Amino acid sequence: MRPEEVLCPTPAGLYCKPGDFHIDPVRPVARALITHGHSDHARAGHGAVLATRETLRIMAARYGEDFAGSTEAVTLGEPLRIGGADVTFHPAGHVLGSAQIAVEAKGLRIVASGDYKRSRDPTCLPFEPVKCHVFITEATFALPVFRHPPPDEEIGKLLRSLAQFPTRAHLVGAYSLGKAQRVIRMLRDAGWEKTVYLHGSMERLCRLYEEEGVKLGPLAPATVAKGVKGEFAGAVIICPPSEIAERWARRFPDPVAAFASGWMRIRQRARQANVELPLIISDHADWDELTATISEIAPEEVWVTHGREEALVRWCDLRGMAARPLHMVGYEDEAE
Ligand SMILES: [Zn+2]
Ligand SMILES: [Zn+2]
Repeated sequence: MRPEEVLCPTPAGLYCKPGDFHIDPVRPVARALITHGHSDHARAGHGAVLATRETLRIMAARYGEDFAGSTEAVTLGEPLRIGGADVTFHPAGHVLGSAQIAVEAKGLRIVASGDYKRSRDPTCLPFEPVKCHVFITEATFALPVFRHPPPDEEIGKLLRSLAQFPTRAHLVGAYSLGKAQRVIRMLRDAGWEKTVYLHGSMERLCRLYEEEGVKLGPLAPATVAKGVKGEFAGAVIICPPSEIAERWARRFPDPVAAFASGWMRIRQRARQANVELPLIISDHADWDELTATISEIAPEEVWVTHGREEALVRWCDLRGMAARPLHMVGYEDEAE
């Protein structure tokens, strides 16, 4: 049987005919299996939703408790029978609750890995390689130019800047799900014990991470009361990337604009965003992680989706591995 009979790209998302469900659908469907809580993968309005407990909580926090007709929490590693398909969720190392979804029917196993990374992240479980016939990989940073340095080095850059400019507020642009909490946790691991200030849009998910056992240390809202601007001298403030160079940022003393993203590898991109302190910290696999993961799993076939698909397809071709781009639409690069 052909893999497309098990899992097939459709305009609504990957569709499993034997199990009659979609994975990360971009349109409302009857039954959705969700890999993780980022808004391009986890949308509101489906009939039934299956996801890890953490992902369901994240969706409820973002969309309200009634984000789906019904929900069911799955346990990682526990096989489920859905119609004619066997389904198992495995950790993806991307954000809290993120999972790869292994779908098996008639002896053929396909792993839809969603978004993933292999570098260390103290805020979620590490990626688990799963043997399969077809491995579906993301391609956000699938160009050889994308090589993410060790994240601890990047946090070291931030700490050095804080030591060098003790009177300046350090505004760190970070996506509100995953990156923000990872940056805070890494700062704590590196010895930063002071209060970290949060833009209002960060508070809910930081609280959720804390409730799930990810300790973030002292946090406070980044609200400036009249006349105490000085409170933020030498402070770390976590905010959405869109705010670091905006009016909102000017309420803080002589702010340093930092941005934690894999895109900061591209100098031009940092300049365009007026980023003074680019921090190359990514929740997506870089080129080396992508190719190492494909080599390790050694599937018979690789399907490449969202991002720079062609380079990775070509890399597989050169190694005699069958590969094809899925050309699915509706998934962002690394956005909220
Ligand atoms: Zn994601
Ligand atoms: Zn994605």
